Amino acid sequence: MSSATVFALSTAPGRAAIAVFRITGPLAAGALERLTGLAAPAPRRAMRVEIRDPDTSEILDDGLALRFPAPASYTGEELVELHLHGGRATVEAVGLALGRIDGLAPAGPGDFTRRAFLAGKLDLTRVEAVADLIDAETEAQRRQAMRQAGGALAALYDGWREDLIGALARLEAVIDFPDEDLPPETGAALAATVASLARDVARHLADARRGERLRDGVAVAVLGPPNVGKSSLVNALARRDVAIVAAEAGTTRDAIEVHLDLGGYPAILTDTAGLREAAGAVEEEGIRRALARAGDADLRLVMLDARAPEPDGTLAGLIDGGALVVLNKTDLCDRPPPAEVAGAAAIPVSAKTGDGLDALTGRLRAAVEGCAAAGASPAPTRLRHRLALEACLAALERAAAQPEAELRAEDLRAAAAALGRLTGRVGVEDVLDAIFRDFCIGK
Ligand code: GDP
Repeated sequence: MSSATVFALSTAPGRAAIAVFRITGPLAAGALERLTGLAAPAPRRAMRVEIRDPDTSEILDDGLALRFPAPASYTGEELVELHLHGGRATVEAVGLALGRIDGLAPAGPGDFTRRAFLAGKLDLTRVEAVADLIDAETEAQRRQAMRQAGGALAALYDGWREDLIGALARLEAVIDFPDEDLPPETGAALAATVASLARDVARHLADARRGERLRDGVAVAVLGPPNVGKSSLVNALARRDVAIVAAEAGTTRDAIEVHLDLGGYPAILTDTAGLREAAGAVEEEGIRRALARAGDADLRLVMLDARAPEPDGTLAGLIDGGALVVLNKTDLCDRPPPAEVAGAAAIPVSAKTGDGLDALTGRLRAAVEGCAAAGASPAPTRLRHRLALEACLAALERAAAQPEAELRAEDLRAAAAALGRLTGRVGVEDVLDAIFRDFCIGK
């Protein structure tokens, strides 16, 4: 465990009613004494303090101090919180005073949570959930992060890893002690455990993108011919009752991204706006990019002119189960637009008058929810999870097909290591522990 004592402003910088500094490490309580001239407060009890400059004794602020002695703290180390007035100058003055105390250094990014991990307070999936809670912009994202913070993924992965280590322990016993009288069903039981684990991991992976989509936002590409009203629609949706979280230029020059909160589910609408300007030589490149975006998107919103709603070949190819067909400019229509286009139900709107936008928002919300809604069991929320789970599954499948006991044990170890990477738990000690607990060998 790190022995340095570090401090950081834990609340957002800027003007606020309250600002909280946290100090963690062996010198935390001593630093508090230096700043207040008082003996550190009783554990977990707020104490009113005057915070003074450690060199000049000038009173810098009047606030509250809390002490969480090791190991019963977030970081597992001595931890102190200072609650101050949230003015910029106050925060600056107290930050400088903290920095002048011998042995204290400013914390780096994630230092507090890193220490919590190193102290065994949080596994890696809970560490990630802390970050996700801070970044959660919608209700469903918050719920998913809370579930993960509560250990839902850790419990799942640790449970699998335990089963795997149990199986490995039995296999190692067969390898190391072939003469012992092991139950004859050991081999079959082992194969059944491996097969059932592989099934569980595969099922969990099959649902993998839901958790990631919820965490990242469901990507919705708005596609259609030039001038059909794509930008107008994105602007109209962004300005309506859906809460806009952020509107910013997208990652590519020709796209605008708008973040929407659709009934608690996050969507990132991408308007391939530049296509309109992309005339002549660059037209092809524009179309190529729009198609690439359509391919990457979780959902496609295909927009056509309600007066001429026949999609050309490329657009028609994009209308499938993952597409919403929108017929725009109904205000210019003298007769009702068709109810269906290319076999998909069409949603008539006018981005100009706002007609039909409520219905479209409802359909979009349902589609986004369908892509990202949490299932009964927790889903992986990061690419990192998916990669480790794929590695685990591949190792389990190799183990199932491997006739050589030693090589099979190697595959099972690789599968267990992949699960260990998910939660940050690694080590062979667990295997040894399980061997001696389950088999009482080596009397
Ligand atoms: P994009 O190229 O598909 O992004 O299309 P724009 O959103 O830039 O719209 C092209 C033109 O159509 C603009 O002049 C818009 O004002 C107009 N427009 C967009 N939506 C509607 C609509 O619902 N009704 C009418 N009458 N005009 C619209």
